[in-house]
Amino acid sequence: EPMLELTGITRVYNKGRPGEVSVLRGVDLRVAPGELVALVAPSGAGKSTLLHIAGLLDRPDAGRVCIDGRDTGALRDGARTRMRREQVGFVYQFHHLLPEFSALENIVLPQLANGVGQAEAARRAEDLLGRVGLSARAGHRPAALSGGEQQRVAFCRALANGPGLLLADEPTGNLDPDTAETVFDVMVAMARDTGLAGLVATHNPDLAARMDRVLRLEAGQLVAA
Ligand code: ADP
Ligand code: ADP
Repeated sequence: EPMLELTGITRVYNKGRPGEVSVLRGVDLRVAPGELVALVAPSGAGKSTLLHIAGLLDRPDAGRVCIDGRDTGALRDGARTRMRREQVGFVYQFHHLLPEFSALENIVLPQLANGVGQAEAARRAEDLLGRVGLSARAGHRPAALSGGEQQRVAFCRALANGPGLLLADEPTGNLDPDTAETVFDVMVAMARDTGLAGLVATHNPDLAARMDRVLRLEAGQLVAA
């Protein structure tokens, strides 16, 4: 059973108004547990729109989003939010870590919001930091970390609640090539380790080629690259 299944997704911005733009025109996609899919497309093609819809941050105008076998269209807002918090991890180009909190705390907080106890949340945060090689940085605030370290922490935060689905929007777009490669490899290794399904938008063809499949978003539809 796919972890993520998109069927006939369409999204039109400014529908019926000036500036109407049809960004997604029937997107079909299935991502299995443990499978990593790269999404490549030029800027403006609709990658963020697609990731937001897949991650339940936006709703399609038509089509179906199923996560872990559940049709999310039928869910009320509260259940949607719960499903997003439990099942979806997001990583963006910029880390969006909370500046006043340590790396560890940034990974603990989303767990507390999900009802996990402090001690267990801290244990999990330490485990995640260890897996990305940042145990020694647990007490540092984001500003004291390098760009690559910040993204690795952001990645740990995305995995804090043990989601089944990872959605990443240019996660290494802000890093120099060597650092990007290292961060990407850590991400792939961890996804493989935890059986995550992943959809990762990237401009970088070398990094995309490290994934199981590469898809291109072209004229509002997904095609094999
Ligand atoms: P990408 O992530 O590939 O750069 P986006 O999904 O951000 O693409 O945007 C796709 C297109 O939709 C762009 O032309 C963008 O300007 C437009 N767009 C995105 N969000 C909105 C919005 N909220 N309202 C109107 N147009 C939007
Ligand atoms: P990215 O592609 O890295 O996500 P963008 O600048 O394209 O960054 O989009 C940032 C936010 O602004 C997104 O939530 C997107 O939906 C929204 N957005 C993008 N283009 C437009 C637009 N033309 N009009 C309104 N909102 C937009």
